[in-house]
Amino acid sequence: MTAESVPFIDLRPGEDDAAVRAAIDRVVASGWFILGPEVETFEAEFAVASGAAHAVGVGNGTDAIALLLRAVGITRGDEVIVPAVTAGYTALAVLLAGATPVFADVDAETLTLDPAACEAAITPRTVAIVAVHLYGQPADMSALTAIAARRALVIVEDCCQAHLATCAGTPVGTLGAGGAFSFYPTKNLGALGDGGAVVSNDSSIAARVRRLRNGGQINRYVHGDAGVNSRLDELQAAVLRSRLPMLPRWTARRRALAATYRRLLTGSVRPLPCRDEGHVYHLFVVRSNERDVLQQHLSASRIETLIHYPIPMTHQPAFEHWKRSECPLAACAAREILSLPLHQRLTDKDVERVCLGIDAFQKGHTLA
Ligand SMILES: *Cc1c(COP(=O)(O)O)cnc(C)c1O
Repeated sequence: MTAESVPFIDLRPGEDDAAVRAAIDRVVASGWFILGPEVETFEAEFAVASGAAHAVGVGNGTDAIALLLRAVGITRGDEVIVPAVTAGYTALAVLLAGATPVFADVDAETLTLDPAACEAAITPRTVAIVAVHLYGQPADMSALTAIAARRALVIVEDCCQAHLATCAGTPVGTLGAGGAFSFYPTKNLGALGDGGAVVSNDSSIAARVRRLRNGGQINRYVHGDAGVNSRLDELQAAVLRSRLPMLPRWTARRRALAATYRRLLTGSVRPLPCRDEGHVYHLFVVRSNERDVLQQHLSASRIETLIHYPIPMTHQPAFEHWKRSECPLAACAAREILSLPLHQRLTDKDVERVCLGIDAFQKGHTLA
């Protein structure tokens, strides 16, 4: 008997299918596509879901980070500390805001920004830290907040992988000056295209992002700031509204599947530790000294895995110019990490099959 393949993710709508299609029909029939009632209502609903006072819809997660940095006052010549393990877009957003990314190494276990490395990267030009809640696990915000307070720095949270996550019980995006979210289709809350949002408890930061996303207009056709065109559109906002009520259930499902992985995985393939129960498992990442052969073995068993991310920021050709120091723990992680399939539609059987595949690899044979 040949078992089913386990794809990394399946982006076709499931239980949300009817709601998503109804949302699209509603917008098409309304004839209103940019900055209308769907975006406005989604912003209010997403703010409530995220435990923040304000939410502003933007074009994507990268712009959310860049506009948040601009809204807190980052300008040309400023340095912003970025963890060496993250999506390249985190550092690109710093460049988009006109600032200089300075890479700092990560915690050996959780792979989130290491507070000591962060502090060591501070120079007289440093103005902000981007705390990335990597894979859905909150960064060490108590240590980072203490450093920021001591050194008079701003913290901006990259929440692109951390919808509904909490850090010691406090919602991410409300621990620093604000949080940037992505609704890229694979994220825990995904649109049918690009989308993003900035949340903040500070009404003036939210107002500045609101202005910057719409060309910096202060009145119609009056551009008060050199803003950008980065608006969440009505179709995507309506789709996100239809899915938002399901997100708590989907998040619970991700956590349950992660617990099953932790129970079933044995041997030298080790899951990254969970430091905070507020972890929302955007990805389930394990480490192995034989990562590449393990991945090939799983692929031969029709189990799809990915690597997030294969290249640390310090080794990205685009950022060569900004490289200052080595980040050895990030470089080591890049050779060992492997993301296993995890999404709300995955079954317990799928997780068992992945773990059997890993078990077979460790025992030196292949899975039928
Ligand atoms: C997805 C992601 C981004 C970028 O979001 P986009 O919507 O693709 O622009 C930034 N940072 C992290 C950590 C991400 O996962």
